[in-house]
Amino acid sequence: MAPAAQIASLLPVPAFPDPASLDPALGAFLHQASDQLCQWWATASERSPLPPLSVLPEVAPGPQGLAPAQLLAELQQVMEGAYNPCHPGALAHLDPPPLTASVVAELVCAGLNNNLLAEELAPSLSRLERQLTGWMAAALGLGAGAGGVLASGGSLSNLMALVVARQRAGLAGHQGAQVLCSVDAHVSLGKALAVMGLPPSALRPLPVDGAGRLRPAALAEALEAARGQGQPVLAVVATAGTTVRGAVDPLAAIAALCRAQGIWLHIDGAIGAVCGLTQGHRQRVAGLELADSITVNPQKLLGITKTSSLLLLAEPERLGACFGTGLPYMEASWGGGHGGEWGLQGSRAAEVLKLWLGLRQLGLAGIEAVVDGAIGRRRYLQRQLEPLGLDLCGGPLHMLAFAPAGASPSQAEAWSAQARQRLLDGQLMLSRPLYGGRHHLKAVLGNPHTTATHLDQLADLVAQSLRNQQP
Ligand SMILES: *Cc1c(COP(=O)(O)O)cnc(C)c1O
Repeated sequence: MAPAAQIASLLPVPAFPDPASLDPALGAFLHQASDQLCQWWATASERSPLPPLSVLPEVAPGPQGLAPAQLLAELQQVMEGAYNPCHPGALAHLDPPPLTASVVAELVCAGLNNNLLAEELAPSLSRLERQLTGWMAAALGLGAGAGGVLASGGSLSNLMALVVARQRAGLAGHQGAQVLCSVDAHVSLGKALAVMGLPPSALRPLPVDGAGRLRPAALAEALEAARGQGQPVLAVVATAGTTVRGAVDPLAAIAALCRAQGIWLHIDGAIGAVCGLTQGHRQRVAGLELADSITVNPQKLLGITKTSSLLLLAEPERLGACFGTGLPYMEASWGGGHGGEWGLQGSRAAEVLKLWLGLRQLGLAGIEAVVDGAIGRRRYLQRQLEPLGLDLCGGPLHMLAFAPAGASPSQAEAWSAQARQRLLDGQLMLSRPLYGGRHHLKAVLGNPHTTATHLDQLADLVAQSLRNQQP
């Protein structure tokens, strides 16, 4: 194999950092890239939230490597066509502007190129992950011995939770095992069960009330029926923040039913669990602390750069019991254990670094302010929309979906398509989910740059779209 210096000499750029001296060209390369990014942010409000189709640079590597200037020029071309989350009108999805310290940590994380698979590949970062997951689990009320693992997204956190729950229930390989959740639970649960080798009928979606919350009576009935038919339940999944309207299931009542029957309660708090880190909004997710496991996605509301998700458990050792392989090609753990033994992923980036630095940057007051601002904007928009004659689907968090009152599915489809375009023309981007059989427009108010003026404009455009609606 060619030594690093030789590979570097083949390319007109410092392909690998010099381990013995500071390379001014490398510093200039990083500075330039950082300036370019800062410029992209600083001009975000001049571009649409959703850019038009852009021309991509050459995709395949050329016969010769490129110099930094050309690399940066090509990078710029890709940046021009990127979704623009920093625009104040970017309100469509759970993808807020990035927290600046988490961007810095992301760069450093890449530069360290550690691997959370094993302690010897990430000594300080392995401990950072253990300690931070322990802190967050305790902060959400899971108890002193609680902890967990980071995962590349909430879908993976949910999958791991269900695998652990199934093993705890002794149902591995049981084709009749069921998972009970609400009809508004996240689509990742279906994927998880498919990966687990269970048929689609293993997922039992139960009805919600008028506010989009799982009805405890329906759950009690379903649990009773499952028991009567001898069908084992491997877990109940409650959602703290549903994807369309941000509804929070009645967590305490659900936990009581699970506890009475010894059934694992997983709370999918990908959206709402971060409220549990605040003083002012933790009551919105009351009962979170009663879970056996919780999915938290700091990438969604807090702006930690993607991906950032955690699976937290009251008894985190269960992760090792489920996913441990013994890692025969690694030195034994000397600290808290190998990161690769606590989850499904093997080699993985130390995503904990950007989570940790981002949370340190915010502090508890900053976390409170982010959540408070988002919920405040949702309330404001709700007040503006209330007089317009819409069916409003909201909840206690920072999301609001709406459709014209009484519109048929086809009317709602036509209205939502034209209203979304009208809003986009005004640089306001909302999404258009199908919910309860009808298209809605959905606003996610997690963008801290959105002001009352933007929301007033949004309400005006929605009002116009209703006047223009075809009868
Ligand atoms: C976003 C979301 C997920 C999935 O998270 P990813 O990071 O997109 O994989 C799971 N559950 C809920 C409620 C979500 O909103």
